[in-house]
Amino acid sequence: MRVILAQPRGFCAGVVRAIDIVERALQQYGTPVRVRHEIVHNKAVVDGLRAKGAVFVEQLDAVPPGAVTVFSAHGVGRAVEAEARARGLRVLDATCPLVGKVHMQGRQYAAAGRVVILIGHAGHAEVEGTMGQIDGRVLLVQNERDVAALDLPADTPLAYVTQTTLSVDDTRGVIAALQRRFHDIVGPNVSDICYATQNRQRAVRALSGLVDVLLVVGAPNSSNANRLREIGNESGIPSYLLADGGELDPAWVAGATAVGITAGASAPEAMVGHVIDALRALAPVELSTMDGIEERVEFRLPSELAGRAA
Ligand code: SF4
Repeated sequence: MRVILAQPRGFCAGVVRAIDIVERALQQYGTPVRVRHEIVHNKAVVDGLRAKGAVFVEQLDAVPPGAVTVFSAHGVGRAVEAEARARGLRVLDATCPLVGKVHMQGRQYAAAGRVVILIGHAGHAEVEGTMGQIDGRVLLVQNERDVAALDLPADTPLAYVTQTTLSVDDTRGVIAALQRRFHDIVGPNVSDICYATQNRQRAVRALSGLVDVLLVVGAPNSSNANRLREIGNESGIPSYLLADGGELDPAWVAGATAVGITAGASAPEAMVGHVIDALRALAPVELSTMDGIEERVEFRLPSELAGRAA
């Protein structure tokens, strides 16, 4: 069986930074370090940090006053920031800088008197954080049907921002629908969709032409991993999401001559290796990596952690 790895795949700079922040906080401040929400949407990563002394909580009322607390890569709303201040927490903010950029854009649009439309998935941590960072009216739309259902006059001054991990193609469609319905609308094209999401989606589209089946390594609650699986299916090849090799169903790859593997931005490369091992247990594997972009993006750590060796 030929196995072709997507390039790029897996960890993005925002995820690397978020994990680094928790690890360095553990070194610098000792255990436990509280982390609000899964630091990134991956069980293996979360379990690994838990084993080192991180304690994951969903709400800050589970954190003792004054404790070192990390906000996850998805970002938080202002109410959470205020609660952390009120509780005297020592906050290390692992919000991805690209998510932070969307917050800033949204705030600027709102300050200019525009109703802000956030294109994103209801209930996702990043969406909740972004909505909570923008003063004024923010409306969430998930698709073109939601655009049609917006109860706003056509001349309302609007602006849109997007969740960073959406499908590039779907988002273009939603933006076009907004622009058809509303005349006074501004926004950043699809540039809020982050570089890592765009690169991984482009790679999967190219990989889909080379393989019979696509395996996407990632968590069921990872937005960008789910988009990769959807793109594989839309490209006409059966595509499956799996956390690791233990979840591989042999029926998925039965009869396949070439299997593609990619990984969402929060999936560690070790899990990709685990899936390859599971394939090897079924048949001899001829492994290669497709040509693709080498990412060199790095984000700076918060200054209080930057000087520490990892
Ligand atoms: S997927 Fe993009 S926005 Fe999300 S953490 Fe990674 S780089 Fe940041």
